[in-house]
Amino acid sequence: MRVAIAGAGLAGLACAKYLCDAGHTPIVLERRDVLGGLVAAWQDEDGDWYETGLHVFFGAYPNMLQLFKELDIEERLQWKEHTLIFNQPEKPGTYSRFDVPDIPAPINVILSILRNNDMLSWEQKLRFAWGLWPAIVRGQDYVENMDKYSLLEWLERQGVDERVNSDIFIAASKALTFIGPEEVSATVPLTALNRFLQERYGSKVAFLDGSPTERLCQPMADYITEHGGEIHLNSALKEIQLNPDHTVRNFLMRGTEGQADYTIEADAYVSALSVDPLKTLFPEPWRKLEFFEKVTHLEGVPVINIHLWFDRKLTDIDQLLFSRSPLLSVYADMSNTCREYADPDRSMLELVLAPAADWISKSEADILSATLAELEKLFPDDFGGDNPTQLLKHKIVKTPRSVYKAVPGSQAYRPTQTTPISNFYLAGSYTMQEFLGSMEGAVLSGKRAAEAIAT
Ligand SMILES: Cc1cc2nc3c(=O)[nH]c(=O)nc-3n(C[C@H](O)[C@H](O)[C@H](O)COP(=O)(O)OP(=O)(O)OC[C@H]3O[C@@H](n4cnc5c(N)ncnc54)[C@H](O)[C@@H]3O)c2cc1C
Repeated sequence: MRVAIAGAGLAGLACAKYLCDAGHTPIVLERRDVLGGLVAAWQDEDGDWYETGLHVFFGAYPNMLQLFKELDIEERLQWKEHTLIFNQPEKPGTYSRFDVPDIPAPINVILSILRNNDMLSWEQKLRFAWGLWPAIVRGQDYVENMDKYSLLEWLERQGVDERVNSDIFIAASKALTFIGPEEVSATVPLTALNRFLQERYGSKVAFLDGSPTERLCQPMADYITEHGGEIHLNSALKEIQLNPDHTVRNFLMRGTEGQADYTIEADAYVSALSVDPLKTLFPEPWRKLEFFEKVTHLEGVPVINIHLWFDRKLTDIDQLLFSRSPLLSVYADMSNTCREYADPDRSMLELVLAPAADWISKSEADILSATLAELEKLFPDDFGGDNPTQLLKHKIVKTPRSVYKAVPGSQAYRPTQTTPISNFYLAGSYTMQEFLGSMEGAVLSGKRAAEAIAT
């Protein structure tokens, strides 16, 4: 079967890869000149990489890890110590760690929380555990049901201490969804926590050893073309054209460089677009169907990824860090965490600015100076004194609409990979699967779309 797939993010590439495995011929059509969508990366004039987002992989990503195995690139995942590290705003330049011992789940995670005395008092730990108890005992059904509440509302209902909210959940919800606990659906952090509590290495983090475009998307693309599939960059889906029975007749593609528009015909069609461009492409007859109407309620959330190259080493920590800054979310010194970006003498910090709604339209100069002001608090020794560190260069990547905004009620709007249209399928991390708006979610959605087509 010939299958046209619009979008070469991880969902589109995974769908194509698994279609190849099932003996079909995928034709992947990507609007941009780079693979990867939200994991896309570029090289600057010095050959240094900069990325759409700082990305980490978790032990609790079974489909992604399986994909690495199938592509024979497992050694590209650089696994870090099993620990979560938070900056301590009240003690600038210091860190608080949740070290997860190498014993079975969920005792390992529970012990890491019990042993941390910087961020939580014993009373707070007990209240925290009590508040989480229903999620642990009643499992994912309970967690899904909590989508009607924001995280903050849920915490209040559970009587969880205000300090627990501010210290841990702000950091977690900003890291998972780029919005704060007052906006995020309670289902999101509870889902993540449930996964971490179920698997011994679920919360263990890995960095890729280089840029996702080169080190992950390219091997996927090579696999697809070696198995008879096609990948076309600079190929934008312009319109989904229909047969009289409202099934898909063809994809109308936008002609580039003065060329005429052209059509792609196939036996089945997949949208692996992110949800915002997809919504604009629904043909008129489909808009009346409840399935597609629901999707129009989803929208991408803004986020900004910042890269700063310094003239010296600011830290030797080889791990993801939770900044606990009001401006920033997670960050990492990529000169320590990533083999291809390694530098023994200079730091390259990659930082996620979130929530970014108030910043997305601001100038790079404004974003840079606000970020540097935050870094003075995180690295007081390097930014103050007689010999402060010098910023050598920077790159800022703004994404006005990234993963779907996981506000309360959004679970009900997330579509399945099969649609009411018999030859049209959806893939993308916004579609319904258990891993939210993540790389694992994107790969799983692509795999599920491929399975649906192949059966
Ligand atoms: C800053 C940031 C940090 C993140 N950190 C993590 C992390 O640490 N761990 C994690 O698991 N996840 C993380 N994510 C989320 C993860 O990147 C996404 O969930 C995942 O990459 C989404 O993949 P996708 O294929 O569903 O969508 P996308 O990557 O959005 O792919 C959609 C593709 O469709 C293409 N397209 C759009 N319109 C058209 C058209 N008309 N015709 C053809 N093609 C079109 C786009 O160009 C794009 O390539 C992060 C995301 C961001 C932005």
